[in-house]
Amino acid sequence: MGKVTGFKEVDRKTEPYRDPLIRIGDYKELYTEHNEEHLRSQGSRCMDCGVPFCQSETGCPVYNLIPEWNDLVYNGRWEDAINRLHKTNNFPEFTGRVCPAPCEGACVLGITNPAVTIKNIEKAIVDTAFDNGWVKAMPPASRTGKNVAIVGSGPAGLAAAMQLNRAGHQVTVYERADRIGGLLMYGIPNMKLEKDVVERRVNLMRDEGVTFVTGINVGGNDVDAVSLDELRKANDAVLLATGATNPRDLPAPNRELQGIHFAMDFLTANTKSLLDSGLDDGNYISAKDKNVIVIGGGDTGTDCIGTSIRHGCKSVVNFELLSEPPGQRAPNNPWPQWPKIMRVDYGHAEAQSKFGSDPRTYSILTKEFTGNEQGQLTGIKTVNIEWVQKDGQMTFQEIAGTEKVWEADLILLAMGFLGPEHYVIDQLDLELDQRSNYKADYGQFNTSVPGLYAAGDCRRGQSLVVWGINEGRGAAREIDRFLMGSTQLP
Ligand SMILES: Cc1cc2nc3c(=O)[nH]c(=O)nc-3n(C[C@H](O)[C@H](O)[C@H](O)COP(=O)(O)OP(=O)(O)OC[C@H]3O[C@@H](n4cnc5c(N)ncnc54)[C@H](O)[C@@H]3O)c2cc1C
Ligand code: SF4
Repeated sequence: MGKVTGFKEVDRKTEPYRDPLIRIGDYKELYTEHNEEHLRSQGSRCMDCGVPFCQSETGCPVYNLIPEWNDLVYNGRWEDAINRLHKTNNFPEFTGRVCPAPCEGACVLGITNPAVTIKNIEKAIVDTAFDNGWVKAMPPASRTGKNVAIVGSGPAGLAAAMQLNRAGHQVTVYERADRIGGLLMYGIPNMKLEKDVVERRVNLMRDEGVTFVTGINVGGNDVDAVSLDELRKANDAVLLATGATNPRDLPAPNRELQGIHFAMDFLTANTKSLLDSGLDDGNYISAKDKNVIVIGGGDTGTDCIGTSIRHGCKSVVNFELLSEPPGQRAPNNPWPQWPKIMRVDYGHAEAQSKFGSDPRTYSILTKEFTGNEQGQLTGIKTVNIEWVQKDGQMTFQEIAGTEKVWEADLILLAMGFLGPEHYVIDQLDLELDQRSNYKADYGQFNTSVPGLYAAGDCRRGQSLVVWGINEGRGAAREIDRFLMGSTQLP
């Protein structure tokens, strides 16, 4: 522990985001330049607790050695800090940008004071390391002669690929999209994670010997498709890391109207058009001059708000079925649990700056969509609800007299995902869990089919990037054990 009294002397201060009114004019990242002195003093706030909950199960899902690298940063030892960070996290440049930081919710200092700015420090360590050329390709010294195929190139597939390749196996990652990265590429928008950050890591992995194949839809019907059976025959093991890409629909009356889209169709097309042509090709769903309603909160909803504002929407509203969270932890949500409190994410702050109010409306239920004779969306009818406890369960009831019609030209459905698409396993008798995910026990990651493993959102349901990395690492360890009889992978 560098500074024993740091937490008493220094207040928490996160690095600011760029001014909302300026950043909505572009798709560049939200973040400002790192300030070394500031970060070192924030690192000094870490108490190096006897039991660091931040790096435990309730905190960081990849068990980052947080107090160790906080201390190294406080002492200006940035290269040592990245070496500690890479021991547990393959991609700190992704988590340092997009992780919601459950570690900070579990920080012991957070019991009485604002938590250490762990996520900021993580991003600064890895950015500094890349700027100084300390992150280099690490190809394995020798090869085992075993081949592994990975289906899906999101954080789970990428983490597994890096681990297995470093263990000496020949790894090929198959991705149906035209770019590698899963939701890191076509999901999370550039404002949170610029795509050259993803490509920089993918290129390093290529240099280490991982083969990436894009435009191959495993189990699909297209000409280029390859079946899972073929992959299993050609490889010693196969990992499914296909994500939970099946969107939840809203089957309200008039759902077929033009102007209602799944959030992922909106976000994916926007990023692809942005990368292909700077949006010049027009191959995206535009929110320009439209009244936009985003149904569903969470990261996806926020990203739809931020993207709509960048398009130049006329207005944006965000509906949430749940009630407004409290400002502080509720008694049934104690430390070190993830604090379920009201937060202002980047998209909310941008809407506030542009339109003068927070876009979120809570406890609201969609009754039906409305349209004109041409079949185009014109609005949505809603009713307010209240949440009540019934037979020990929370349920809602409508509040009479609160019906309302909202004008809308574009509605984006961001209500989460219902597990993986199953066509990839059609030819196999693969067991599913109760939520239709691929059944594979956490820690083992093997499915009911020998040699076939599953990790990430397709196994655990929609989750977080950091959990994808955790599962990819875990699956790699178990695949290595399966192939070699024992494993050195963490
Ligand atoms: C809009 C949005 C914003 C998000 N924001 C955040 C955030 O800020 N922070 C955070 O921590 N998490 C966020 N998440 C969640 C996070 O992105 C996911 O939990 C994570 O990416 C899951 O990783 P994965 O590797 O399991 O799957 P994915 O990232 O979904 O990758 C799966 C890949 O498999 C490919 N694939 C599927 N089927 C096939 C097939 N048959 N053949 C070939 N390829 C196939 C898909 O094309 C995809 O590229 C967000 C999610 C969304 C949708
Ligand atoms: S990966 Fe997420 S939980 Fe872990 S230290 Fe980084 S911000 Fe915290």
